[in-house]
Amino acid sequence: MRDRDIKFLWGRSGNRCAICKLELTTDGSSETLGEMAHIVGQSRNGPRGNHDLTDRDTYDNLILLCPTHHVEIDKNHAAWPIERLRAIKADHEAWVSEQLGTGVFKVSPIDNTSFLAERKASWIEACRGEVGMVLCLTPLRVSSDTLNPLDKSVTDILEQARVPNGNQSGEQVNRYRTRPTEFGIANQDLPAPHNTCGHSIQIFSAGHCEYFCELGESVNQVTVVSKERGVDLKGASRVLRYTDLAEIAHFGLDWLAHAWRTILPFNYMTFCGAIVNTTSTTLYSREDHRKQGLHGFTVSSPILKYTEVLSKSFEKDTLLLEFLRRISNSYGLMLHRVFDDKGEYVRPEKMR
Ligand SMILES: [Zn+2]
Repeated sequence: MRDRDIKFLWGRSGNRCAICKLELTTDGSSETLGEMAHIVGQSRNGPRGNHDLTDRDTYDNLILLCPTHHVEIDKNHAAWPIERLRAIKADHEAWVSEQLGTGVFKVSPIDNTSFLAERKASWIEACRGEVGMVLCLTPLRVSSDTLNPLDKSVTDILEQARVPNGNQSGEQVNRYRTRPTEFGIANQDLPAPHNTCGHSIQIFSAGHCEYFCELGESVNQVTVVSKERGVDLKGASRVLRYTDLAEIAHFGLDWLAHAWRTILPFNYMTFCGAIVNTTSTTLYSREDHRKQGLHGFTVSSPILKYTEVLSKSFEKDTLLLEFLRRISNSYGLMLHRVFDDKGEYVRPEKMR
């Protein structure tokens, strides 16, 4: 689901169930959690699914409900057909705007946009001009403290993060690098030590989790090798290797999914995956059945970013695939032509 659709839905529904008007929250700290139900069913075989609508995750096709009513409409789908749900939603949103107009209640905005903008600035700073990659999960509403960062369960999760070291299983972070910070708790190795990539992995007390790697050393090596081979870099001054990006995304997503399942109470979160300082970079990979490499186009954007709102039951491999596809497409490469040097472990199951 897209961020924008979710914000529209929650805002216009006044954080209330469209059927019973129960007030809902986006996280698990309350008994009444909102659920974004599909009006035309999400899958063709599911309730209300037999319909020719193609994009089913948009605001137009979602209705905000309490868990009881979500179960109710799916169980008795004959009693709750598509047209009835659409009418209920329209009535409910009209009711919400009336209530807001008379000042009966206020809606607290679902908004993590400014928080993420601040994080973006800090990633760029942490890179000190080098290329970096970050993957994070952010609560839809970044407000009060959700976690105690000094709690042993939180520190344990932080220290279970793995970072790339050239082996398939990666390397566990050194726990002596764990420190409390102004935001929560972090395990950091920045600026990057010689010959490796640096990292900063953080858990915020507000529930934001962030996996960041600095790629400077590997970018320098790949760039030097490409120049030695006389590759036409089409104006790019730096070369990223697909394998490195895929590896970081693989370890980062593993850790984020684990953290969410284990310590984060939210039902929905915003996923953001980004590469920063990408201006004048190009992407290198192997091409299928060939010895020589494949280079993409040069990008001019300073940041390449992919954002999506996820539910807790998200499919890790599907997200990894989509994220890598977006990145390689940004460089003009199709994912099915992108190969790495070390086998296929960075590729989601479904690709095989
Ligand atoms: Zn309800």
